[in-house]
Amino acid sequence: MSDLASVLYGEDEIRARVGELGRDITRDYAGRSPVLISVLKGGVVFLSDLFRAIQLPVRIDFMSISSYGAGAEGSGVVRILKDLDQDIGGEDVLVVEDIIDTGLTLSYLLSALRARDPKSLEVCTLLDKSVRRIPPLEIRYRGFDCPDSFVVGYGLDYRERYRNLPFILAVDDQTGLAENPDALAGLLTEGPPGGI
Ligand code: 5GP
Repeated sequence: MSDLASVLYGEDEIRARVGELGRDITRDYAGRSPVLISVLKGGVVFLSDLFRAIQLPVRIDFMSISSYGAGAEGSGVVRILKDLDQDIGGEDVLVVEDIIDTGLTLSYLLSALRARDPKSLEVCTLLDKSVRRIPPLEIRYRGFDCPDSFVVGYGLDYRERYRNLPFILAVDDQTGLAENPDALAGLLTEGPPGGI
Protein backbone atom coordinates (compact mmCIF):
# COMPACT_ATOMS: atom_id res chain seq x y z
CA MET A 1 0.00 0.00 0.00
CA SER A 2 2.76 2.46 0.90
CA ASP A 3 4.30 1.82 -2.57
CA LEU A 4 1.22 3.41 -4.06
CA ALA A 5 1.17 6.62 -2.06
CA SER A 6 3.08 8.62 0.52
CA VAL A 7 2.09 11.34 2.97
CA LEU A 8 2.59 14.83 1.62
CA TYR A 9 0.91 16.80 4.41
CA GLY A 10 0.08 15.23 7.76
CA GLU A 11 -2.95 15.98 9.90
CA ASP A 12 -1.08 18.22 12.38
CA GLU A 13 0.62 20.17 9.62
CA ILE A 14 -2.69 20.81 7.86
CA ARG A 15 -4.39 21.86 11.12
CA ALA A 16 -1.58 24.30 11.92
CA ARG A 17 -1.58 25.84 8.45
CA VAL A 18 -5.39 26.18 8.34
CA GLY A 19 -5.21 27.94 11.71
CA GLU A 20 -2.65 30.40 10.32
CA LEU A 21 -4.80 31.10 7.26
CA GLY A 22 -7.80 31.68 9.52
CA ARG A 23 -5.81 34.21 11.55
CA ASP A 24 -4.59 35.99 8.39
CA ILE A 25 -8.13 36.25 7.04
CA THR A 26 -9.48 37.42 10.43
CA ARG A 27 -6.87 40.20 10.47
CA ASP A 28 -7.28 41.26 6.83
CA TYR A 29 -11.10 41.35 6.88
CA ALA A 30 -11.48 42.91 10.35
CA GLY A 31 -14.75 44.86 10.57
CA ARG A 32 -16.18 43.13 7.48
CA SER A 33 -18.25 40.01 6.95
CA PRO A 34 -16.98 38.15 3.89
CA VAL A 35 -18.89 35.50 1.97
CA LEU A 36 -16.80 32.34 1.58
CA ILE A 37 -17.60 30.41 -1.57
CA SER A 38 -16.68 26.77 -1.87
CA VAL A 39 -16.75 24.68 -5.00
CA LEU A 40 -18.29 21.26 -4.40
CA LYS A 41 -17.23 18.72 -3.58
CA GLY A 42 -13.48 18.81 -2.96
CA GLY A 43 -13.43 22.18 -1.20
CA VAL A 44 -15.87 21.39 1.60
CA VAL A 45 -13.44 19.76 4.04
CA PHE A 46 -11.05 22.71 3.87
CA LEU A 47 -13.93 25.18 4.07
CA SER A 48 -15.40 23.54 7.15
CA ASP A 49 -12.09 23.76 9.04
CA LEU A 50 -11.12 27.19 7.66
CA PHE A 51 -14.32 29.03 8.46
CA ARG A 52 -14.25 27.82 12.06
CA ALA A 53 -10.74 29.30 12.29
CA ILE A 54 -12.03 32.74 11.22
CA GLN A 55 -13.24 34.96 14.05
CA LEU A 56 -15.56 37.12 11.97
CA PRO A 57 -19.27 36.91 11.08
CA VAL A 58 -18.65 35.06 7.81
CA ARG A 59 -21.29 33.60 5.53
CA ILE A 60 -20.75 30.52 3.36
CA ASP A 61 -22.21 29.52 0.01
CA PHE A 62 -21.62 26.71 -2.46
CA MET A 63 -21.35 26.20 -6.18
CA SER A 64 -21.19 23.02 -8.16
CA ILE A 65 -19.63 23.02 -11.59
CA SER A 66 -18.79 20.53 -14.30
CA SER A 67 -16.59 20.86 -17.33
CA TYR A 68 -18.36 21.13 -20.66
CA GLY A 69 -17.18 17.70 -21.82
CA ALA A 70 -14.44 16.46 -24.08
CA GLY A 71 -14.59 19.29 -26.64
CA ALA A 72 -13.98 21.98 -24.06
CA GLU A 73 -11.46 20.04 -22.00
CA GLY A 74 -8.50 22.13 -21.02
CA SER A 75 -10.34 25.37 -21.76
CA GLY A 76 -11.56 25.80 -18.19
CA VAL A 77 -15.06 26.50 -19.48
CA VAL A 78 -17.49 25.12 -16.94
CA ARG A 79 -21.20 24.64 -16.60
CA ILE A 80 -22.77 25.79 -13.33
CA LEU A 81 -24.75 22.84 -11.96
CA LYS A 82 -25.64 24.56 -8.68
CA ASP A 83 -25.42 28.31 -8.36
CA LEU A 84 -24.96 30.42 -5.23
CA ASP A 85 -28.01 30.92 -3.01
CA GLN A 86 -27.19 34.56 -2.38
CA ASP A 87 -26.50 37.64 -4.45
CA ILE A 88 -22.83 38.62 -4.07
CA GLY A 89 -23.22 42.13 -5.52
CA GLY A 90 -21.42 44.58 -3.17
CA GLU A 91 -20.06 41.77 -0.96
CA ASP A 92 -16.52 40.85 0.04
CA VAL A 93 -16.14 37.45 -1.61
CA LEU A 94 -13.45 34.89 -0.84
CA VAL A 95 -13.35 31.80 -3.06
CA VAL A 96 -12.10 28.82 -1.04
CA GLU A 97 -10.50 26.11 -3.17
CA ASP A 98 -8.97 22.76 -2.31
CA ILE A 99 -6.40 22.79 -5.11
CA ILE A 100 -5.45 24.92 -8.07
CA ASP A 101 -3.75 23.02 -10.85
CA THR A 102 -3.61 24.71 -14.27
CA GLY A 103 -5.91 27.41 -12.86
CA LEU A 104 -8.16 27.28 -15.94
CA THR A 105 -11.28 26.32 -13.98
CA LEU A 106 -10.72 28.99 -11.35
CA SER A 107 -9.95 31.63 -13.93
CA TYR A 108 -13.28 30.98 -15.65
CA LEU A 109 -15.12 30.91 -12.34
CA LEU A 110 -13.58 34.19 -11.22
CA SER A 111 -14.69 35.96 -14.38
CA ALA A 112 -18.23 34.64 -13.87
CA LEU A 113 -18.21 35.89 -10.24
CA ARG A 114 -16.62 39.24 -11.13
CA ALA A 115 -19.52 39.90 -13.52
CA ARG A 116 -21.81 39.95 -10.45
CA ASP A 117 -20.05 43.05 -9.07
CA PRO A 118 -18.74 41.93 -5.68
CA LYS A 119 -17.06 44.64 -3.61
CA SER A 120 -13.91 42.50 -3.53
CA LEU A 121 -12.98 39.08 -4.88
CA GLU A 122 -10.04 37.06 -3.52
CA VAL A 123 -8.90 33.44 -3.54
CA CYS A 124 -7.81 31.14 -0.74
CA THR A 125 -6.52 27.73 -1.78
CA LEU A 126 -5.16 24.99 0.43
CA LEU A 127 -2.89 23.58 -2.27
CA ASP A 128 -1.31 25.43 -5.16
CA LYS A 129 0.37 23.43 -7.92
CA SER A 130 1.97 26.64 -9.08
CA VAL A 131 4.35 24.92 -11.54
CA ARG A 132 1.31 23.87 -13.60
CA ARG A 133 -0.30 27.32 -13.83
CA ILE A 134 -1.48 28.46 -17.28
CA PRO A 135 -3.39 31.74 -16.91
CA PRO A 136 -1.83 34.25 -14.50
CA LEU A 137 -3.85 34.26 -11.28
CA GLU A 138 -3.54 36.36 -8.17
CA ILE A 139 -3.92 34.09 -5.15
CA ARG A 140 -4.20 36.02 -1.90
CA TYR A 141 -4.03 33.04 0.50
CA ARG A 142 -2.22 29.76 -0.11
CA GLY A 143 -1.81 26.86 2.31
CA PHE A 144 0.99 24.94 0.61
CA ASP A 145 2.85 25.20 -2.67
CA CYS A 146 2.19 21.66 -3.84
CA PRO A 147 4.51 19.52 -6.01
CA ASP A 148 3.22 18.30 -9.35
CA SER A 149 1.79 14.99 -8.09
CA PHE A 150 -1.74 13.66 -8.03
CA VAL A 151 -2.98 14.07 -4.47
CA VAL A 152 -5.89 12.63 -2.48
CA GLY A 153 -7.35 13.13 0.99
CA TYR A 154 -8.76 16.06 3.01
CA GLY A 155 -11.56 16.54 0.48
CA LEU A 156 -9.64 15.49 -2.62
CA ASP A 157 -10.78 12.27 -4.27
CA TYR A 158 -9.76 9.52 -6.57
CA ARG A 159 -12.96 8.35 -8.26
CA GLU A 160 -14.98 9.71 -5.30
CA ARG A 161 -12.85 7.84 -2.76
CA TYR A 162 -10.58 9.12 0.01
CA ARG A 163 -12.17 12.53 0.61
CA ASN A 164 -12.42 11.64 4.32
CA LEU A 165 -8.74 10.86 4.87
CA PRO A 166 -7.54 13.43 7.44
CA PHE A 167 -4.13 13.76 5.74
CA ILE A 168 -3.04 14.38 2.15
CA LEU A 169 -1.30 11.69 0.11
CA ALA A 170 0.73 11.97 -3.08
CA VAL A 171 -0.15 9.04 -5.32
CA ASP A 172 3.20 7.64 -6.43
CA ASP A 173 1.82 4.83 -8.60
CA GLN A 174 -1.24 6.06 -10.49
CA THR A 175 -1.35 2.94 -12.68
CA GLY A 176 -1.49 0.74 -9.59
CA LEU A 177 -4.32 2.80 -8.13
CA ALA A 178 -6.22 2.73 -11.42
CA GLU A 179 -6.01 -1.07 -11.35
CA ASN A 180 -7.40 -1.17 -7.81
CA PRO A 181 -9.11 2.11 -6.87
CA ASP A 182 -9.83 0.83 -3.34
CA ALA A 183 -6.18 -0.07 -2.65
CA LEU A 184 -5.72 2.79 -0.17
CA ALA A 185 -8.95 2.17 1.77
CA GLY A 186 -7.05 0.49 4.63
CA LEU A 187 -5.50 3.86 5.48
CA LEU A 188 -8.91 5.04 6.71
CA THR A 189 -8.53 2.73 9.70
CA GLU A 190 -4.76 2.19 9.87
CA GLY A 191 -3.69 5.81 9.60
CA PRO A 192 -1.01 7.18 7.31
CA PRO A 193 1.74 4.99 5.81
CA GLY A 194 4.87 5.35 7.89
CA GLY A 195 2.73 6.28 10.92
CA ILE A 196 3.06 10.06 10.47
P1 5GP B 1 -7.47 23.20 -12.97
O1 5GP B 1 -8.55 23.83 -13.80
O2 5GP B 1 -6.84 24.16 -12.00
O3 5GP B 1 -6.44 22.52 -13.83
O4 5GP B 1 -8.15 22.00 -12.21
C1 5GP B 1 -8.63 22.15 -10.95
C2 5GP B 1 -9.42 20.94 -10.51
O5 5GP B 1 -8.82 19.70 -10.92
C3 5GP B 1 -9.42 20.92 -9.00
O6 5GP B 1 -10.47 21.70 -8.47
C4 5GP B 1 -9.57 19.44 -8.72
O7 5GP B 1 -10.93 19.10 -8.76
C5 5GP B 1 -8.86 18.77 -9.88
N1 5GP B 1 -7.48 18.40 -9.49
C6 5GP B 1 -6.34 18.96 -9.92
N2 5GP B 1 -5.25 18.37 -9.39
C7 5GP B 1 -5.74 17.38 -8.59
C8 5GP B 1 -5.10 16.40 -7.74
O8 5GP B 1 -3.87 16.29 -7.63
N3 5GP B 1 -5.93 15.57 -7.07
C9 5GP B 1 -7.29 15.60 -7.16
N4 5GP B 1 -7.99 14.74 -6.45
N5 5GP B 1 -7.92 16.52 -7.95
C10 5GP B 1 -7.14 17.40 -8.65
